[in-house]
Formats: sequence, structure tokens, C-alpha cells
Amino acid sequence: MRQTNISVFVPHSGCPHRCTFCDQRSISGTQKAPSADDVRKLLDEQADTLRKNDMRAEIAFFGGSFTGIDREYMISLLEAAHEFTEKFPDVYCGIRCSTRPDFTDEETLDILHRYGMTAVELGAQSMNDDVLRLNERGHTAGDVEKAAKLIKQYGFSLGLQMMTGLYGDKPEYCIETARRFISLKADTVRIYPAVILDGTRLGELYRSGVFTSFSFEETVGLCSQLLRMFDEAKIPVIRMGLHASREVEEKMLGGVYHPALREIAESRIFFEDMLEEMKRLGGTEFEVHTDPANVSKIIGQKKENRIRLEKLGYRFNIKNEKGTRLKIYAL
Ligand code: SF4
Repeated sequence: MRQTNISVFVPHSGCPHRCTFCDQRSISGTQKAPSADDVRKLLDEQADTLRKNDMRAEIAFFGGSFTGIDREYMISLLEAAHEFTEKFPDVYCGIRCSTRPDFTDEETLDILHRYGMTAVELGAQSMNDDVLRLNERGHTAGDVEKAAKLIKQYGFSLGLQMMTGLYGDKPEYCIETARRFISLKADTVRIYPAVILDGTRLGELYRSGVFTSFSFEETVGLCSQLLRMFDEAKIPVIRMGLHASREVEEKMLGGVYHPALREIAESRIFFEDMLEEMKRLGGTEFEVHTDPANVSKIIGQKKENRIRLEKLGYRFNIKNEKGTRLKIYAL
């Protein structure tokens, strides 16, 4: 049975922070805060569709700071979600939320526990204190560590979210952030390359020439490294890059936003692995065995991997082999 999320976006209107990348002020103006009854209606409507498609779902409260919103309002949303995990346990298998590390204390986690929360995701963004400060996050890496440990103690699945290419960021800081996520034993990770939006502090810095984020090429190289690290640590990366959205496309000034970013980063990993193996085997002609699901990543977007390897003197054909990631034979 496949699993999905039924997402409920809860804008944090009145958020006291001003993170450099966030356009919450404009989002809050256009996105209506859902009521508990809106949540009930949504979950009721979706239950049949999920059943028909033989799927289960977690009810996901997203928007950044679920535990920072008005307490009574938060509890009313939790009550609605909990009602449906009790009523339709065959369909709704849990509740998840995303929040800030400094809105995560024992009193709050007690409430989440009471209503059957299963996963808590923290917007950590970076584990470098200078990057956090420059981007006006209002918390430190130490706060992330403290909150992450507490979430684990409560038995929730721990999600950690990081951004790359923020103001003052460096690729090596991102690698260090990933290392610390791994040592915190994250259960899931999301990676978001910074997108510079008009109307944000990053937008101002970008326009004044003080800041440019990582290039697309740098981001692909970095994201492929991060994917490798989390893969080796057996931590699923459940999202890479912002979801496609007209609003982002309209307001984007710079940074990296590509609907196929993950595919491109995975394709880069295949390129590196193929090059290394071809060098090791020696020769110029190869047969690459792989599962059909990997073929497009092996060839690369616009045949990038094939072209790059051919330029280096390596030619290959592909043989489908179900369940195989990558085996290469010299011809
Ligand atoms: S990203 Fe920062 S500014 Fe935006 S809602 Fe979250 S805490 Fe507030």
C-alpha cells in the first residue's frame, strides 16, 4: 500500500521572525488559515479517494511554525486530525507537522503526543551559527540539537530540513550541516536550495549586489554529495527543492529552482560512479546493466552523462537488469 501526505498549509500570521528567505508576509495575506472544520471537510473528502487508490496518508500540517501559532487554534486543528486517525485508521496513519527548533519544548511536545502526532520536522536550515545569524533565523544550531534530541526522546519521527546557498553560506557549511543531521539520527531530511524571492531580505541583498546564491552547477554538485551522505547513513531525503509553484516562478529573482533538481542530482551521482568504474575497468566500450527505472538518470538530462563520457572517450550501451543499480562490463 502506497503512502502519501494530505497537506494542510497553516500560515504563521503574526510570526515575530523575519528570516531573510521568507515571504510569509505576502503568503499570509493570500492564504487563508484553515479552520478545524475545513480540515475535517478535507479529510472526509480525501478518505474515499485514498481508499480507491489503495493508499494511506499522514495528515501533514505544513507552513513552517505549527507549534508557534495560537495555542487554542493549534489544538483545534490537532483535534480535527486526531478525530480522523481514530475514525479511519485504515486510511490516516499519522499526523506530522513542521516547526521551528525554538518552538519545541516539553510542554508543546506533550500536547502533540496527546493528539497522536507521529512526526515532527524542524526547519533547521543550517547548523552554522553565522549563517543562521546572517539570515535572521533567531535560533542557533544548539537550539536545533536540543529540539531534535527532545523529539527523539518523545518517540516522534524526526525530520530535519536544510537550505543551501543562504546569505553567508558555503558548500562546506552545508556538508557540515548534513554531518550533524546524521549524528542527530534524523529519520527524514528535506533539502531546499535557496530561492531568492522578490519582497524578501534576500531579495534586497541580491538587488544591492551584496549576495548571490550558489550557481546551478554548484548546487547540483553539492546536492549530489548530500544525497550520497544521507543515502550512506540510510536517511531518506523525502524532498529536494521547492514544489513547482506559479507564485515562486513569478517572484523569483535568483537562486536555484528546478522541478527536476533531484533527478539531475541523482544523475550526477550515476555519472561519477560510471566514470570511476570505467576508469578502473579500462577500455573505451562498455555495457551498463541497470534497472529500467534508472535509465534516464544514467543517460542524463539532454543526454548530458552520455555526452560528457563520450568526450572523455567512454562509450556505452545499456542493458535492462531489473533490481540492479549499476553494473558495468568492458566490451
Ligand atoms: S520562515 Fe521565519 S519568518 Fe517565515 S514564518 Fe517561518 S519563522 Fe517566520
